[in-house]
Amino acid sequence: MVDLDYYEILEVERGATFDEIKKAYRKLALKYHPDRNQGNKEAEEKFKLINEAYQVLSDENKRAIYDRYGKSGLENQGFEGFSHSSYEDIMEFFESVFGGSFGGFGFGNRKRDDQKYPLDLSYEMEISFEEAIFGTQKEIDYEYKIPCSACGGTGAKDRELQVCPECGGNGQIYYRQGFMTFSQTCPRCNGSGRIIKEKCPECKGLGFERKREKITINIPEGIDNGDKIRVSHKGNIGINGQRGDLYITFYVKEDEHFVRYNDDIYLEVPVFFTQAILGETIKIPTPRGEKELKLPAGVKDKEQFVFKGEGVRNVRSGHKGNLIVQIKIVYPKKLTEEQKELLLKLQESFGIESKPHESVFENVFEKIKGWFKK
Ligand SMILES: [Zn+2]
Ligand SMILES: [Zn+2]
Repeated sequence: MVDLDYYEILEVERGATFDEIKKAYRKLALKYHPDRNQGNKEAEEKFKLINEAYQVLSDENKRAIYDRYGKSGLENQGFEGFSHSSYEDIMEFFESVFGGSFGGFGFGNRKRDDQKYPLDLSYEMEISFEEAIFGTQKEIDYEYKIPCSACGGTGAKDRELQVCPECGGNGQIYYRQGFMTFSQTCPRCNGSGRIIKEKCPECKGLGFERKREKITINIPEGIDNGDKIRVSHKGNIGINGQRGDLYITFYVKEDEHFVRYNDDIYLEVPVFFTQAILGETIKIPTPRGEKELKLPAGVKDKEQFVFKGEGVRNVRSGHKGNLIVQIKIVYPKKLTEEQKELLLKLQESFGIESKPHESVFENVFEKIKGWFKK
């Protein structure tokens, strides 16, 4: 058999970019996919070649060798291509490129889903208020799953799987109701079409073993409670060698003084009643250091002052929120005799102004007298 040129097989130029190659591969692989060409030997052969060509041209090293020395150059390096590979191997390669799920392509019936655990992994992490605002680097030590080495992730002793008796290997069971036929995923084999004969003694049929790994992650400035970070290719490893992603969800500890609401930070500042009356410039803490707050004379309880841009930097937009300072007027809890005297003296010095309720309600007192006479 004459070897066809890989570039010709994928119908791309010799200088094609990786993206062009992948696009061409995708188009052709879907066109010649066995599910769409059942029993067509020619299509099957073509599908094999397309996958082989892509396996070489998508790999920088293999492509470089192929470009210089041709297929024999690759063979000298131990590359066999797919000419002697089984149908299963080729499908496995195809699925590793496309992620194993072709719901959207109409290949639903042929889902060889022997994967016994999900590939994506989630991890929860608690960080301090300060770390969330400013970002940080953290090392995490976590466990992920790899296929059990004894059973290759099948969960079956000696990797022996048998055709599911429930669905006859279809993965689907059909039932009729009137003139309609319905199908559902086989509950016995979960759609894989195969079942375990005897459980693998190493993993007790689970199909995986655990591994530990330490990684360092960069937590961006401004991350908030419940935000997630995806770390690509740090999840579980599947039976075809594919690795899922690791999703880290963050929980931010509350601060004793600062309260965050979206990108704004709130701070309650206690102010003594005399300070509130007289007005004063006081020092307040902000996440980015000390700041001065000029209290106007007669500042009110719950009055707010905004420090623009002193809040949190939004993790997506980069826009900075505000620091909002809210005044809490504090009164003395106890008075000494001397303080009482001083305060009385102060009150008297205001004269009529010190009894505002009397002038405000003067007429009201008269008015309500009339209400009771009836
Ligand atoms: Zn096992
Ligand atoms: Zn079944």
